[in-house]
Formats: sequence, structure tokens, C-alpha cells
Amino acid sequence: MNKVTIIGSGPAGYTAAIYAARANLSPVIYAGGPAEEDPSRVPGGQLMITTDVENYPGFPEAVTGPELIERFQKQAERFGTVIHMENVTGVDLSRRPFHLTAESGAKVSTETLIIATGATAKWLDVPGESTYRNRGVSACATCDGAFFKGLGVLVVGGGDTAMEEASHLAKIVGQVTLLHRRDAFRASQIMQHRVLKNPKISVVWNTVVEEVLGDGRSMTGARVRNVKTGEVTTLGAQALFVAIGHRPNSELFADRLETNDTGYIKTVPGSTRTSLEGVFACGDVQDAVFRQAVTAAGTGCMAAIEAERFLVEQGR
Ligand code: NAP
Repeated sequence: MNKVTIIGSGPAGYTAAIYAARANLSPVIYAGGPAEEDPSRVPGGQLMITTDVENYPGFPEAVTGPELIERFQKQAERFGTVIHMENVTGVDLSRRPFHLTAESGAKVSTETLIIATGATAKWLDVPGESTYRNRGVSACATCDGAFFKGLGVLVVGGGDTAMEEASHLAKIVGQVTLLHRRDAFRASQIMQHRVLKNPKISVVWNTVVEEVLGDGRSMTGARVRNVKTGEVTTLGAQALFVAIGHRPNSELFADRLETNDTGYIKTVPGSTRTSLEGVFACGDVQDAVFRQAVTAAGTGCMAAIEAERFLVEQGR
């Protein structure tokens, strides 16, 4: 019987583990399985597909996302966290202790559960997108940018992710065309400024992708439409990087826990407590607003402290 089981291995999950381990709660993490088709669902989560992280305190020279995750993992292990590199595929939250089933078939009982499953990149859902996924269409410039050295690529989106993807790609590819559906970015000023002054990035405003085009083997371009004028044009490009936001990885719990209308797990304000006693949620799976590595880590810390208090209240 575990006292604390954590699902997810991003900043929220590992911070919860560090705190729970130092409180002698012997936490067990289910960190996720080997690389799935979706690059943002790998162990470590979204930081694994992030280049430089410049806003995580304590790293004045910046740190890469994967390096930060490696450091979190080592710190969690140092205090005795048990880490399973596999997914949880089933949860029974109908009574305590809770019961989990891992991908390997292992059954686990746990007195408290900390959900830190993060969020996953969204796709455009236009014709051709899934046909050419991994043959030009990608949601991860860090993973796939190098395949398009010197070539022309498209990026879709107007948030920080799109800015980051475009800036990263501009260092590798020949030309980046950034398509945004409105006439203003929602990205932070510093990141949009970087994009707007980069001579290798051109921005096409008020434009949506209608179809991803290809020759049957690889992507060759996209049919796009200007939403103001209605004009439809074809842009030639070898790749399309989709950077339009994320959805929370809450499906496994949605029938037992309260979620909001976009699937984020509801927590009591100022707390990580969910609608079910003994279940705590932290990081992006419950945060539609801030979604930063440092806020995820902060809520991971809260979840561990709240799990510890809950166990004390239960006399465990
Ligand atoms: P986001 O802020 O939600 O932005 C998504 C963008 O995609 C928006 O510009 C949106 O357009 C556009 N979009 C959404 N659906 C679309 C569709 N179907 N077709 C075309 N465009 C679509 O998501 P994000 O950029 O992933 O950022 C999420 C959070 O992570 C933010 O809080 C951000 O600050 C943070 N983040 C930080 C960093 C960093 O600091 N290094 C890096 C990445 C992300 P509209 O603007 O019209 O809605």
C-alpha cells in the first residue's frame, strides 16, 4: 500500500515527490511510458519538448527543458522516490484506498493520489493534418526541426509556444512563415518582439490553415485562407508546426472528479484538493491560466503538503 502515489513526471509531479519523500511518505511516481506518438506525452511532459527555459528561477544562464527534468528526477530519487517509467491505465477512485492499474498490469493501492498528468498539444483538425503527421506535420520544433534544415516551414499560432517554436526553427530552417488567425499575438511582449525582429520569420496575419497538402509521401504545403478577405492561397512548405495550445490530460479521472468545461480538473481555490477527498491535482492538468513550469512546481509542493496533512488527519 502506497501512502502517496503520483501520476505524472513534469515539474508538478517531481516537486510533489521531492516534498513527499522528504516528509518520509515514500512516494511512488508513475512517470509515463516510452515515447508515444504524441511528443508532449512523454515522461517529463512538455518540458521535454522545450528548448531553453529562461524564466525558471535559479538558472541565470538558462537551462534546457530536458536538463531541468533530469535534475528534478535526480533530486526526487535522492530522497527515495520510487519511479516507474510506465503509464497508469486504470483508476478506481470509488473508495479509499484508491486502486490503480499500471500499463504492465501491476495493481497498486494508495491512500492518497496526486494527479500531475499535465496537458497535451492541440491539433488543427484540418484535412491532411493527420495524413502528414511525422511526414511534415509536427507539434514539436525541438524534436523535428532538424529534419528541415535550410527548408521553408510554417508555424501556426499566436501564443508563447508559437513564438518559441518559430524562434527555434529560425536557427535551423531556411525560412519560417508564422500564420496567425488574428491581427495580434497573445504571446508575451518579449517573445513576440523576438519573432517580429527576426529576419528569417515572416508573419501572415488573419490567416487559417484549411488543408495540409502533400504528394502522398511528404507534406508539400498548405492551403490557407485570409479570414478578413476570404482569399485562399497555397503556400509551399516542407513542414507545418502546430502550436495552438494544449488540452489537459484528465480523461482517466473525468468520470470521478469534477472538471471544468474544457476538462481541467477543478481544485478548491488556493489548494490542490479536488472534488474527492484524498485526491489532489497539481500542474497543468488543473491550471488553464498560468501553465508555467514554476507554477506547476509550486502546486506540486502544495499537493504534497496537503497529502501529508490529509494522512495526518486520517491518523495514517
Ligand atoms: P495559448 O497561449 O493558448 O495560445 C494559443 C494560440 O493558438 C493563440 O494565439 C490562439 O489564437 C491560437 N489558436 C488556438 N486554436 C487555434 C486554431 N484552431 N487555429 C488557429 N490558431 C489557434 O497557448 P500556448 O502558446 O501554448 O501557451 C500556453 C501557456 O504556456 C501560456 O501561459 C504561455 O505563456 C506559456 N508558455 C510559456 C513559454 C515560455 O515562457 N518560455 C513557452 C511556451 C508557453 P487566439 O490568440 O486567436 O486565441
